[in-house]
Amino acid sequence: MRYAILQRYERLYGVDPTGLSAIATTGAKAGLYGISQLLFEPGDEVILPRPYWVSYPTQVKLAGAEPVFVSGQAENHYLPEPEDIERTITDQTRGILINSPSNPTGGVYDRDQGEKLVDLARSEDLFLISDECYDGFVYQKDSFWTLATSGYEKGLVVGSASKNFAMTGWRLGYIIGSPEYVDPLENLQSHLTSSPPAISQKAGEAALRSDLTLDESTRHRYRKRRNGLADRLDQLPGVDCTRPPGSFYVYPDVKGLLTRMDKGQEDDEELARLLLEEAGVVTVPGSAFGKPGHLRMAYLPEIDRLEEAVERIEETVGSTLEEPDC
Ligand code: PLP
Repeated sequence: MRYAILQRYERLYGVDPTGLSAIATTGAKAGLYGISQLLFEPGDEVILPRPYWVSYPTQVKLAGAEPVFVSGQAENHYLPEPEDIERTITDQTRGILINSPSNPTGGVYDRDQGEKLVDLARSEDLFLISDECYDGFVYQKDSFWTLATSGYEKGLVVGSASKNFAMTGWRLGYIIGSPEYVDPLENLQSHLTSSPPAISQKAGEAALRSDLTLDESTRHRYRKRRNGLADRLDQLPGVDCTRPPGSFYVYPDVKGLLTRMDKGQEDDEELARLLLEEAGVVTVPGSAFGKPGHLRMAYLPEIDRLEEAVERIEETVGSTLEEPDC
């Protein structure tokens, strides 16, 4: 499994595995938890993107450290730019966690941004953790940058079989980095879960060695779904929806819609509940990711199902906007 992890990164991204180590973890979630436990302690600050994947802040707090949030611009799918992160660094900062492609926004760091982030981490002597769980879901060829190419000794890459190979229930993730940090992570894991189940590792190894990650025709299908959903949502009154370059989510800004519905701009939970109960459409409110006024929607279903979902949203929302008959 360890070889298969490194070989995948070598095959897909030209990563030189010399000097790198890899371990299989019980899902990326347990890998990220182990990283926080190993690297952070009370008094440390850890810079996290906002919106963030839901477990990051809690895992940092469980290590006794303090999460510090930084947002980028909406045009860049809220991914914090290296300059945004630099402004957030204090004497207490010990690490920076990035997530590309991002859950929930679908933003992706390119090579230029990635290399600047490494330069910043190096110059400030900080750990740089890159959660790359959605690396198979990038829609512009060659636009994805992986930290594994950087050679940064305080850099750790986190990945998962859950998204790329649709193996969520197998609980299989991995970490790539220098043995100085990966070996103690293995020690820690040996006292937590021992290892991911052997059967999962066998299946994961086969998936990693195959070319199961999106081929061009599948990528084309997903791109079409993303464009179809984003463009339809963008036409709804008070909704702003762009086409994110990665993952399988769109993250529309619904603040204008909430205002029109006579609700507060942060009432996305109420909107998500309404869409679930009245329209039968599942969304996740942006407030779950620390950025209210948005909804996260997955475009995994076929395009006709997505179109039906938007029609139902339109109908449900439309009925709340109509003036009551007098
Ligand atoms: N990181 C991100 C950004 C995720 O979205 C998820 C799962 O949703 C994980 C990590 C955890 O993945 P796993 O199922 O491998 O624990």
